[in-house]
Amino acid sequence: MDDCIFCRIAGGEIPSAKVYEGKRAVAFLDAAPMSRGHLLVVPRAHWKDLAAVPGAGAGEEEKAAYAEVCDVVRAAARAAVEVFGGGANVLQCTGEEAGQTVGHLHFHVIPRPKGGKVPPEFVSGAYRYADDADRAATAAALRDAIAKAL
Ligand code: 5GP
Ligand code: ZN
Repeated sequence: MDDCIFCRIAGGEIPSAKVYEGKRAVAFLDAAPMSRGHLLVVPRAHWKDLAAVPGAGAGEEEKAAYAEVCDVVRAAARAAVEVFGGGANVLQCTGEEAGQTVGHLHFHVIPRPKGGKVPPEFVSGAYRYADDADRAATAAALRDAIAKAL
């Protein structure tokens, strides 16, 4: 979709700090992170939210796209644990009422370092990278760890 920001990020039209680029899914650092390394996993195909993903009636391509997204979420959680040594939250918002602000399916993977608040907070922009180099180094570490975990 031309007017969808995540379609445009997936297609490389809008720059982002990518940590995974596959045939059917991509992952990139969130622009307003809740924690260091907070990333988003999105399908290249445009589904507006999780409720829009077809179930039993899904075609082979749709099944493969959803499977790739789920596997990258898994690998990103493992990467978060490996890179930051703590835990991770996976957050998915379906519908405005649930806090969804971008209408293209995405899973947040939010690394949670040791010693953080439990239960964790979900506050957009709560974390700030020191500078672009810090952000790029974080993306590089996650990119390597995701590739290893897939
Ligand atoms: P939602 O609230 O829909 O679950 O999450 C949307 C997320 O997308 C937010 O955490 C927000 O910071 C992130 N986001 C919105 N626009 C952009 C963008 O242009 N680039 C990146 N990297 N993240 C974005
Ligand atoms: Zn889209």
